[in-house]
This record gives sequence, C-alpha cells and structure tokens, in this order.
Amino acid sequence: MLESALTHLECPECGRKFNADRVQNFCEDCRSPLLARYDLTRVAASVTRAQIAARPRGLWRWAELLPVRKEKFRLTLGEGDTPLLPAPRLGKTLKIKHLFIKDESPNPTGSFKARGLCVAVARALELGRREFVIPTAGNAGGALAFYAARGGAEAHVFMPKDAPRTNQEEVRAAGADLRLVDGLISDAARLAAKAARGKRWFDVSTFKEPYRAEGKKTMGLELAESFGWELPDVIIYPTGGGTGLVGMWKAFAELEALGWIGPKRPRMVTVQADGCAPVVRAFQSGAERTETWQNAHTLAAGLRVPNAFADRLILRALRESGGTALAVSDAEILEAQREMAQAEGLLACPEGAATLAGLRHLVKNGWVQPDETVILFNTGTGLKYI
Ligand SMILES: *Cc1c(COP(=O)(O)O)cnc(C)c1O
Ligand SMILES: [Zn+2]
Repeated sequence: MLESALTHLECPECGRKFNADRVQNFCEDCRSPLLARYDLTRVAASVTRAQIAARPRGLWRWAELLPVRKEKFRLTLGEGDTPLLPAPRLGKTLKIKHLFIKDESPNPTGSFKARGLCVAVARALELGRREFVIPTAGNAGGALAFYAARGGAEAHVFMPKDAPRTNQEEVRAAGADLRLVDGLISDAARLAAKAARGKRWFDVSTFKEPYRAEGKKTMGLELAESFGWELPDVIIYPTGGGTGLVGMWKAFAELEALGWIGPKRPRMVTVQADGCAPVVRAFQSGAERTETWQNAHTLAAGLRVPNAFADRLILRALRESGGTALAVSDAEILEAQREMAQAEGLLACPEGAATLAGLRHLVKNGWVQPDETVILFNTGTGLKYI
C-alpha cells in the first residue's frame, strides 16, 4: 500500500507548525498559506523513481508526496500525467531550439484546476468534511463541483456572473449550488465567506487551505521526470493565484531533498494580462507584497485575480529562481491563441496562450536564449471559452 509521508503543516512566515491531521485553513497571525511537510528521508528510503514511474498513470502515483493517507479516499477522474508536447514549428519562428508545451487541457473538467481540487477534496473528505465552498474566476468552481460529485459531497460555488458560460453550466451540470456574483473573484470571496458563516462549509479558496497547491505540485514532479530528472531552463506560467507556480517550486525543493534532482532550477516566469497584473507590478517595483489591482479586466478569466493571497510565496519563487514577470495584452493573447492552434494543432485557453505571447517578448529582449529549454504552460482547453 502507498503511504503518505505527510508529517505536519508549516507557516512559511512565522515557522509555526500545525497539526496536519485536522482540517486547517491558513496561519491567521501572518495571513499566510500553510505548506505541507513530509518525512522525505522516509520517502527516499521506501520508494524509488523507477517504482513511481512503473505505477498506473495519474497524480496518485506520487502518493508518498501527497497528503491523503488512505487509498479509499484517493478520488480520481483521471487527472495528471498530461502530455509534454514538443512545439517545433513555434520554436522555429521564435528561434528557440527546445520549446515544449505542458498541455493541461486533457485534465478532467478541461483545466489544471482538477489537480488541485482533486487533492484538496480528497483530503478534506478523509478528515470528515462533506460540504465545500469556493469563490472562483471559473475553472476552479467547475473542478470543485465535479470532484465533490465524485466524492458524494456538496459544493457551493461563487462565481462572477460574467465568467465564461461553460464554467457556469458545468457547475450546474454537476448538481452544485451556483451563486452568480456581480463583480470579481474578490467580491465572490466576500460573499462566499458571508454565506459560509455558521455553517460547516469547508473553504477551498486558493491557498486558504494547504492541499490544492499539493495537487498542482505534481506538475513539477511530472516535468522533472519527463526531462530525465534534470529540470528545464525556463518555465512560463500564467499566474492568477499562483498555486501552480508555488506548487512546482515546492516540488523542486522536495525532489532535491530526496536526492532525485540536483540543485539546478528553472527560471520561473509569471505572465499576466495587462488589465490585471498585480504580481508583475510588485515584481518590477521590488515589493514583497502585491497591491490590489483596480478595475481588473481581461478575457483570460483565470488571470482576473486582483490580489493573490500567496503573493509573498509567488514573488519569492520568481526572485529565488532568477525569473521574471511580464504582462501581455488581450490582443496579443488572441494572436498567440491563433498561432498555437495553427502552428501546433492545440486550441489553448487564453491563459495558456498568454505564455506564448510572453515568450515572444522574452526572446525579443534577449532574456531567453536560443539554446535554452523552455516550457509553456497551457493550463486548460480553449473549448471552454467558445
Ligand atoms: C486558475 C487558472 C490559472 C491561474 O492559475 P494559478 O495557479 O491560480 O495561478 C491559469 N489558467 C487557467 C485556465 C486557470 O483556470
Ligand atoms: Zn504564521
């Protein structure tokens, strides 16, 4: 039987430890996310990379490095182990020899939100919670609705009323309680918190519980494995709440502690839309925290996040990695979406297309070199936005 090596949760700001076998949200003192910690010495002694590679496909083959203890709680709809597609034609026009797209669109519910919600819902069910609440820009609500259905649990989803129609319909289709909100994800969060008061609804907002990041961490584990345990040079990530970026950065640290990779790290790049770029602004000004972005607007719904709860962790990962942050326009996103479809046969979501638009800038200004290995993240399917 596969055994989780989860030991405790830790606040990255004050270092305080929290019991991982009780439901936890975040560190109230620091208003910081909690990070899951594992007994990595035990993992290194009990399993090898080759054994993990030989297991059935999917995210749970990394069970030792995930928080769910009992097999029967490991919910699945077939998430993870997504393709790493070479992009030779795009690479040629950009003069990048080794360009790849990590394509998250085959995940259940059509986006990488499946990875995070799969693990968060599974662990909460294991700890006895059966009702969930989430504020969402769109895709996270869909993923929660379906994993809740899969686990026989209840979901309450608060979503801006101008979120993509597909996101609204999928939540309804899964039988979840959909509340459409006048405003942005930040307004949805306020209303969700209010509605949850006095109820046993477990809040699975981005980084307000520790395990969505653990699910998304598996993208970093898969990348390391795909490249023969030597990480690529540059990872370009469309950043909203930053779950995937922080999750992958954490994955790399765990892999090095396990002795499965060396100290080499990719430079992590945040791409945002110029109508909502709080991380880019904070990165460029040298700030440790983001400021709430006013009048956020972009067609890339997943990037319409005016304030990231994990801002400190995102900015630290970018800086420690020698990475950068940049914003692109909606027009550039649409152009990149067409290009990706026609050059490589991939209908990317606008958020995913934004990474290609970002790369174009980074090539032009010489930040990325022709012989570097570069990963673009297509975080979901473009079909959900049609
Ligand atoms: C949520 C979302 C993002 C942003 O992801 P984070 O990990 O929260 O930064 C990007 N793309 C899509 C399609 C999304 O749904
Ligand atoms: Zn703290």
